[in-house]
Amino acid sequence: MLLTLAVKLILCLFAADDLKLSRSTGLFDRLWKEYFRARGQTYQPPNLTPFTGKRDSPCGKIQAGNAYYCEKNNTVYYDSDFLSALRLRVASDTGTSGDAAPVVAIAHELGHAVYAQLNRQTRPVRGMQQLQGYGEEKMADCLAGFLTSAAAEKGLLETNVLMETESTMALIWEMNRRKGHPNWRVRFNSFLHGYRNGLEACSDATFENLRYPGK
Ligand SMILES: [Zn+2]
Repeated sequence: MLLTLAVKLILCLFAADDLKLSRSTGLFDRLWKEYFRARGQTYQPPNLTPFTGKRDSPCGKIQAGNAYYCEKNNTVYYDSDFLSALRLRVASDTGTSGDAAPVVAIAHELGHAVYAQLNRQTRPVRGMQQLQGYGEEKMADCLAGFLTSAAAEKGLLETNVLMETESTMALIWEMNRRKGHPNWRVRFNSFLHGYRNGLEACSDATFENLRYPGK
């Protein structure tokens, strides 16, 4: 009986994660659609595809413990066990619910999606074009900051969002040290810039001058 209750409680917590994530991504889709529409362009919201273990994609095999945007089929793949585990780690490190962790991870991938789609348009945004490697990661982090602040403002996330984001980025860095993603402190700076100053700030001069190693 106790075990059943514990299982139910855990399922309930994961369902709450899913709900927060889907509400946040719904908001993100609406924001990007508005932004593209105002520019006379069309945004195609990426498919969000959870997986566990490994996953094949047109962009190659996606490993466990990862979230990845594949431009070829406009899909964000994410290891759902990994995002749940990440939230729990962030929660224990910060003493909060950790609810921002999965949202920040997906917002970063949506940043890649938006960046890719903006560059395919006939009129790319100045300062947001022809970035590569670290430059593109920096942009994805800034755009994720803008999105996450919108989710926080709408009350979709609990308080302590920035503390949780800092912890999320530090943990991802610690766990993966993935090639192509710079040190988490640098990433957090880019995120903060978009979070505090909004979307337009992701192509302003201050952002351009934010230091990113390798660029
Ligand atoms: Zn990235």
